[in-house]
Amino acid sequence: MRYPAPATVYSVGDFVRRVVDSLLRGHCRGQFLCARCLVKLAKDHLDKSYATADITQVMEEIFSSPGPISSVPMSTCAVCGRKKMQCLGVPVPMTTPAKP
Ligand SMILES: [Zn+2]
Repeated sequence: MRYPAPATVYSVGDFVRRVVDSLLRGHCRGQFLCARCLVKLAKDHLDKSYATADITQVMEEIFSSPGPISSVPMSTCAVCGRKKMQCLGVPVPMTTPAKP
């Protein structure tokens, strides 16, 4: 392995994760989206040089280990309306009732 140390190099995965995270916390807040729609949305927000196949692969990785984003095995996609899809979303925090 003769590659230089990738200290500040971001992979496709880093960019896709960042876009997905910002979408789910911003524009699509409180919604759950399927992988297909997330790939489409991410592609719109990423540089044209990213291949759909690469984004799709990263999306599969995000679905299998979502990290701070939640993965819901069975949900209805907020964009395409498909039911019983595995969706990703950021749960909206429940408003805790004020104690007397
Ligand atoms: Zn969808």
